[in-house]
Amino acid sequence: MLRRCSIACVCVVLCLATTVRAEDRVFLAGAATSNITPPLGELIVGGWAPIPCTHIHDELHARCLILNDGETTLGFVICDNVGIPREVFDAAREQIAEQTDLNVDNILMASTHTHSATTARGRSKTEAVSNLASYQEFLAQRITDCVRRALNQMVPARIGWGSVEEASELFNRRWYVTDPDLLTNPFGGVDKVRMNPPRGSATLVRPAGPVDPEVSFIAVESKEGKPLALLANYSLHYVGGVQSGEVSADYFGIFADLLQRHFDPEAQYPRFVGMMTNGTSGDVNNINFTGKRPSREPYEQMQIVAEKLAKRVIAAYTEITWNDYVELGSAKSTLQLQVRQPTPEMKEYFTSVMDLPEKERHRHVLTYIDRIKRIESGPQSIEVPLQVIRIGDLAVHAIPFEVFTEIGLELKDRSPFDDAFTIELANGSYGYLPTPAQHELGGYETWLGTNNVQLDASEKIVDQLLDLSQSLTPSE
Ligand SMILES: [Zn+2]
Repeated sequence: MLRRCSIACVCVVLCLATTVRAEDRVFLAGAATSNITPPLGELIVGGWAPIPCTHIHDELHARCLILNDGETTLGFVICDNVGIPREVFDAAREQIAEQTDLNVDNILMASTHTHSATTARGRSKTEAVSNLASYQEFLAQRITDCVRRALNQMVPARIGWGSVEEASELFNRRWYVTDPDLLTNPFGGVDKVRMNPPRGSATLVRPAGPVDPEVSFIAVESKEGKPLALLANYSLHYVGGVQSGEVSADYFGIFADLLQRHFDPEAQYPRFVGMMTNGTSGDVNNINFTGKRPSREPYEQMQIVAEKLAKRVIAAYTEITWNDYVELGSAKSTLQLQVRQPTPEMKEYFTSVMDLPEKERHRHVLTYIDRIKRIESGPQSIEVPLQVIRIGDLAVHAIPFEVFTEIGLELKDRSPFDDAFTIELANGSYGYLPTPAQHELGGYETWLGTNNVQLDASEKIVDQLLDLSQSLTPSE
C-alpha cells in the first residue's frame, strides 16, 4: 500500500513538473544589424578582374537573428558579401565565444553573394587564410557585434514560417547550344553546355538544369505582436546592373529595406530586421536568355526583383501559423574532400598554349593557369563545415559552396522534416558545387579553378546533411 502510494506520488510529482515546465516555456528572439561597408579603395571582386570601389551606392550589412527555446540558443548571421572564407567566420566565432555564453557552433553565418561588395577572400578558395587582412578583421568584429546586439535585444517572441513561389525572375544559366564555338573551354576541350550563352541566340536549345521557385521565410514577432525580423531564402544568384566601381548589397539589401519599411513604418527601435539569404543558385541567374526585356537603368532591375519578392512575402505573412513555442536544434560536422588536381593533359595544354598568338587562345586561359597553380601549391584535401538547424518541423541546411539548384531541390525532397531549405555560401566559401551529372556536361561552373573539389562532393554533402537532419528529428 505504502509502496503503491509512493509510485503514485512520484507520478504526480513528475507529471506536475512536466506540466509546469510546459507552461513556463518561453521562446525568445532578438535581431540586429551591423554596418559592414568597406572604405573606398577596397577591391570589388564580383567580375573577372577586381576593381577598386569608388562609391557606395547602398551600405552593406551583417544581419543577425538569434532564437532561444529555453535550452538551445541558435541563430543566423547573413552578410552582404560575395563569399566569406571559413577563417573569417571562425575568427568571429572565437570572439563571440570569448564575449558571450553562446555555443558558437549553433550560429549559421553566410554570405548573400552580392557581386558588388569588396573582397573578404584569401589567396585561393582551397588555401586557409592565415593572417586576416584589415577588412576581414573588421568583418569578423562586426559579425561579433551584430550577434551581441541581437542577444542584448532578446524578448519573448512567437515564430512562424512559410513559403510562396516566384518563378518569373529565375533562369537556369547553363544551356545546350548548337554552335561549337560557344562550347570551348580554357583547357583546350569542348563542353556540352554553355554558361550565359548570348541572349536570343538561334543556337540555344534548352537549359541544362531546373530552377527552384520557392521563396521560403521564417518570421518572428514579439509576444505583443510587434514584427521583429524575417529571414527569407531564394535561389537566385544576384541581379547586378550596378555602376562600375560602386558598392551595393544588390536585391538582398533592397529586400531587407522594403520589409523594414513595411513592418516598421514608424522606425521604432529596436528596428525590424529583414534578411534575404541565398538558396541554391549556383546555376541560376536573372537573365532571360530567350525572352526580351526592356533595357534598365542602373539598379532598376534589382529593385524590381526585390519589390516582387517583398510583395509576395508580405502577402503570405498574413497566412502564417504562429507558434508560441517550438523546439530548436543544431547539428554540425565536417567533411573531408579531395581537392581536384590538373590532369597531365591539362598541364601539357597550358604549356603548349603559350606558344599560340594571344587571339588564338581561349580568353580565360591565363586566369585558369593562375588559379590552377594556386590549387597545386595548396592543400590536397580540405575539411568543409556542414550544418543543419532545426526550428520545430523546419530544417535549414548550410553548405559552404555556390550550390546547384537541383542539390537544393533534392535536399528539400529528402529531408525528414516537413519543411526545409538550404542557405549556400554558409560557414565558408569553396567555389561552385555541381552534381556529378552536371560535371559530365562541363561548362564554367565545372571548370577546375571554379570548382575545386572531388567530382562526387555534392553526393557526400547531401548524405551527410540528411544524416545530420536525422540526428535532429525528435525521438518518438
Ligand atoms: Zn557569383
